[in-house]
Amino acid sequence: MRPELLTGRCGLLWHVLAKTAPSGTLCGIRLPRDHIPAADPEAAERYCAPCMAAFRAAVQQPAEA
Ligand SMILES: [Zn+2]
Repeated sequence: MRPELLTGRCGLLWHVLAKTAPSGTLCGIRLPRDHIPAADPEAAERYCAPCMAAFRAAVQQPAEA
């Protein structure tokens, strides 16, 4: 699981990748496999709310091996 940086009209948006998710991200959005984030100092950075909520829920779960 790791954050993925996306660019869009609203600026930069961080998603959380999950290998267990069919779409690859916690919120369900599909990321281009070869997506390369463009660094834009003028763009605002935001975190994907659904991804963050799912990530927090996962972190709060007790680790089970
Ligand atoms: Zn997301």
